[in-house]
Amino acid sequence: MMYRSSLKRTSEKIHTFSKFGDAGHGGITRYSLSDEAKQARQYYVERMTKIGATIETDDFANMYATLPGSDSNAKRIVMASHADSVKNGGNYDGILGVIGAMEVLETVAAEKIPHKHPLTAMIWTNEEGSLYPPAMMSSGVVCNAYLPKEIAKNFKEENMLASKSVLDKVSTFGEALEKSGLKGAKENRLSPDKYKAMFELHIEQGPILENAGLDVGVVTCVLGMFNTRIKFYGQAAHAGTFPMEFRQDALFAAAQVLCYLHAEIDKLGHPELVYTTGEMVVHPCVHTVIPDYVDFSIDVRHEDPEVLKKVYQIVRSLEGKEWAKCRCEVVDQWNRDTVYFDKKLVGYVKEAAEELHTKHQYINSGAGHDAQFAAYVLPTTMIFVSSEKGLSHCEPEHTSDEVCNEGISVLLNAVLKCDKE
Ligand SMILES: [Zn+2]
Repeated sequence: MMYRSSLKRTSEKIHTFSKFGDAGHGGITRYSLSDEAKQARQYYVERMTKIGATIETDDFANMYATLPGSDSNAKRIVMASHADSVKNGGNYDGILGVIGAMEVLETVAAEKIPHKHPLTAMIWTNEEGSLYPPAMMSSGVVCNAYLPKEIAKNFKEENMLASKSVLDKVSTFGEALEKSGLKGAKENRLSPDKYKAMFELHIEQGPILENAGLDVGVVTCVLGMFNTRIKFYGQAAHAGTFPMEFRQDALFAAAQVLCYLHAEIDKLGHPELVYTTGEMVVHPCVHTVIPDYVDFSIDVRHEDPEVLKKVYQIVRSLEGKEWAKCRCEVVDQWNRDTVYFDKKLVGYVKEAAEELHTKHQYINSGAGHDAQFAAYVLPTTMIFVSSEKGLSHCEPEHTSDEVCNEGISVLLNAVLKCDKE
């Protein structure tokens, strides 16, 4: 038997959450632990309490609303995402996964759908890390013991609590957590002893589904990636007096290398490969001075580690070479392997989409999500809904209520399939 979530309730929640942190031009700014974030959580608590769910909070203010199942000893099935946003973000990234989880519980309660396992709608704290970096902070802490060492070291609990606000550069995440009144008990954390599986519904944040005329993506993995800095050392001199032929212009060297990298990487001929230079530091950054130092980032993502290795070799080959008479240095930042989601759960999502006649395809995630850390702890998977024009992390971010609700119906039926195992 297939069930459908309620479009009316889904619309109501999308509309209401979009008021908490409304920036006045169509989107929201809702930093984790802010007053706006607390209002959003209050609304979640009200709705979840109304249907008889029990609310728990852990020591990182992650919240869990749980509806009991017929077997009180059975492990919980959790649906989770985040309620915080980037600055001037949209009304869907993260919060749609919370809305979806809430809607699944509300549908199950309203239609008295029989289920064995307790069902939990969860909010992760500080996924965006836009006020207190890094991104995926709480899942990084809660899942820490299960993560590969080189990832885990970036999410040490004490360092996270000491993370400073990007605005005032003084106040810390730990202080905000204490002040929020949302801090609960460590034993409430997500754990494999208490939880059987996790699902995360999220917007795609890219144009693939829309371009294919589809509503839902059955996510199979989060792409592997590496991140490297490329540095150039030149000589500063006066812009008006120093002849061109003697210059060691670090920015000119960097510009040449950026074009070289694009040409060489594109020659590999992998259409799904994505790579980005999003950050550049220019020193001294004065219009009358030839730059003596430039450093830029390169972020490379692909599912296949062999493809990543080939790109890495191209990047690495720059080391020690001279460009425009400037020495080049390559410094590795970090990397991660592709995280594959649980095959059985991916299968449930696929079956649910087929049985509901939802327009769907398999897809991978180029973006990081809390689910990718949870995947090291317990069987986990994700569902995407299409993003209009592929936009996210901006105010025009949009997915229609109907498509959101379609994704939620897929989530609901996939969860019920998991419940029947
Ligand atoms: Zn998100």
